[in-house]
Amino acid sequence: MGAGLVAKAALGHRISIVSFGLAQVLIDIEPGVRMIRDDDVLHGISHTLWGAIVVGVVAALLAPWLIRMIVGRYNTEVAHYGFTRWIYPESVSAPAVWLGAFLGTFSHLVLDGLMHADMAPFAPLMSANPLLDMVAHDDVYGIMTVCAAVGATLWMIRWWLSVRAQQPRPD
Ligand SMILES: [Zn+2]
Repeated sequence: MGAGLVAKAALGHRISIVSFGLAQVLIDIEPGVRMIRDDDVLHGISHTLWGAIVVGVVAALLAPWLIRMIVGRYNTEVAHYGFTRWIYPESVSAPAVWLGAFLGTFSHLVLDGLMHADMAPFAPLMSANPLLDMVAHDDVYGIMTVCAAVGATLWMIRWWLSVRAQQPRPD
């Protein structure tokens, strides 16, 4: 989620973090199933360019429903406790949903490609994984952990500033 949180901090309402997150879950269903089956190759068609496009489309189509559910639940809670100014807009633009979904699958493809030897991201055009080991495995985790912490913090600050800007000034 590190890449998504940095993008969210930078782009605000222009990208959906829910559709980014949903894309992460959907794209890793295949490796999850293959792990249970004890397959030799875990990262198959879902971790190719074509797979990432298909998963991105599915994520973008499902995300509006998930956004309404998550944000609706959150808004019910904050309204219940009287924090009405923290109510979050429930509608997200279609471009924000699609951007989240495709940034989700493509960043996942690149980051997994750096770490997993069983991937062939450009299959069927190329059976090798040209991304492998361009960045060390532990560095990918380290960089993404920092990105997640920095991105989440900046996103919260950005949101807090926008909520504060909507308040009537005492003068
Ligand atoms: Zn993956």
